[in-house]
Amino acid sequence: MTGGSIGIGFDFDHTLGVDHGLELRALYEYADELGRPIDPHDAAIRGAVQTLLADFRAGLMTLDTMVAVFAERLGAAGADPQRWRELCYALVDELVRPIDGAPELVAQLRARGVPVAVLTNGWTPLQQKKIARALGDAAHGLPVLVSDVLAAVKPERAAFDALVDALGVPREHIWYVGDNPRGDVGGALAAGLRAVWFDWEGLSYPQDVPPPTLRSASLRELEALVENTYAP
Ligand SMILES: [Mg+2]
Repeated sequence: MTGGSIGIGFDFDHTLGVDHGLELRALYEYADELGRPIDPHDAAIRGAVQTLLADFRAGLMTLDTMVAVFAERLGAAGADPQRWRELCYALVDELVRPIDGAPELVAQLRARGVPVAVLTNGWTPLQQKKIARALGDAAHGLPVLVSDVLAAVKPERAAFDALVDALGVPREHIWYVGDNPRGDVGGALAAGLRAVWFDWEGLSYPQDVPPPTLRSASLRELEALVENTYAP
């Protein structure tokens, strides 16, 4: 990384923190409340629920529609999206954990005066709670941009344009760090940013996505990189 006026954007899920399937678990709890419990060992139903959640995350349906479709498929009368939101919030403390080194890296960058922001797909109140849980004090005052408010889902360019505005740094000086080759790396590169592929899970990189500017297997490695390239 070059020193000087750079800014860093982070993906959240599987980059700074993990939620261990929080929304899926909240849907199962919601099914219980509807009096239509789902067998946790039924792989077919689990797959169908995961597909529904994936469509919601990709912006193909609203949260209210997703919960309504879920209840309808269970044969339950009436859906209460607000109740599902509350079940999600109640699981944050138990399920959300930082990726090793994440709070330290974000705190270190901010202490050095590097503009930092999170750009994440999802719905705002849950993402904010997850980020606060994972990063603790390092999340205080951290700009968080979420796809529902942006009305743009990564890899859409508009999402990265919003990040550029939030960081206040020329886009060619911005590094975006994320685990998803297509959504994070591909989206950032197409928008004129630099991209760090965070490949901590040991996955292979798809052939049809442009290669990242840099790849890193640990946030501590990134921390060292920033430390070595920044004048104190
Ligand atoms: Mg991710």
